[in-house]
Amino acid sequence: MAHWFGNCFETGGLARFIMEGMTPREAERYSRQIRFSGIGEEGQKRILRACVAIIGCGALGSFEAGALARAGVGRLRIIDRDYLELSNLQRQWLFEEADVEEGLPKAVAAARRIARINPGVEVEAAVADLTARNAGELLGGVDLLLDGTDNFETRYLLNDFAVSRGAPWIYGAAVGSYGLVMPVLPGETACLRCVFPEPPAGVQPTCETTGVLGPITSLVASLQTAEALKILAGRHEHVSRRITTIDVWSGVIRQLEPPRRDPACPACGRGEFPWLDGSRRAPISLCGRNAVQIHERSRPVDLPALAAALAELGEVRVNEFALRFFLPPYELTVFPDGRAIVKGTQDVGVARSLYARYVGN
Ligand SMILES: [Zn+2]
Repeated sequence: MAHWFGNCFETGGLARFIMEGMTPREAERYSRQIRFSGIGEEGQKRILRACVAIIGCGALGSFEAGALARAGVGRLRIIDRDYLELSNLQRQWLFEEADVEEGLPKAVAAARRIARINPGVEVEAAVADLTARNAGELLGGVDLLLDGTDNFETRYLLNDFAVSRGAPWIYGAAVGSYGLVMPVLPGETACLRCVFPEPPAGVQPTCETTGVLGPITSLVASLQTAEALKILAGRHEHVSRRITTIDVWSGVIRQLEPPRRDPACPACGRGEFPWLDGSRRAPISLCGRNAVQIHERSRPVDLPALAAALAELGEVRVNEFALRFFLPPYELTVFPDGRAIVKGTQDVGVARSLYARYVGN
């Protein structure tokens, strides 16, 4: 349902409107946020007109989507490639058992729930795998990009897109009890590649292999949402310039000094966007009748380390040439150069999702 912004003025002569550009219901609904001096009436109007893309609707993204819908963001574009599973419910705020039983894609389940939370918010649900090819279509025309992804490949694509378009984005990540938040205002603050020029090499911890606590995901997503509200309300000057790291188990919270922009940064310094032009993305091909091959070029994988990480999750067989991981109905075969064959599906999105989860790309 579209936000009925234009309708506000049609019956304006009746003096029913407490605030110009806002209905009485909106003024009441968002009154506590409007009363907060950092937002105010002007900030709330901006929020009502804003469009935000949430990339990944898992633990972080589902919290952000719900929180921004409650805050009155006019349009939310929710992009996610996965279907709901029972193991998501421990931390993925918007979803319920019925969604899992119905086998809903996360983006669709999120849109349904948001329609009940705040029908004034227009939600565009995209059940899609974000790639260089569809990034312009899926991410174009939004005021802000929120990172709810679970993999570095997509984050570097987001950074390329955001820096190339001058759009702000907020990096957020959580695994185990640890999380991190870093807002990126292109041209103003350091971008992801100023701080981490290349994605981390080797096997990375994932929520599947290391586990994750609900509270760290909601904490990271809350911080991202707070930064988002500052940006959407037009209060860029209040956006945190620091990287915040939190461990909810040890209780340690750190704010790292604001990283400097690197004039030699490939992205925001030199204007090179290899993830966006597709040259850095792992090509994928259908392989046989029921398998997908993921060709990686520069991400060597330590097979014994990966075998150790996966051992508790399913049957693993490993030798020096390949690792096979059995996860019925799927079977992953991973090679030392990072290439993998995912058997049991012809769906490229499913294959990439399994790879991201279990190999930790
Ligand atoms: Zn940079």
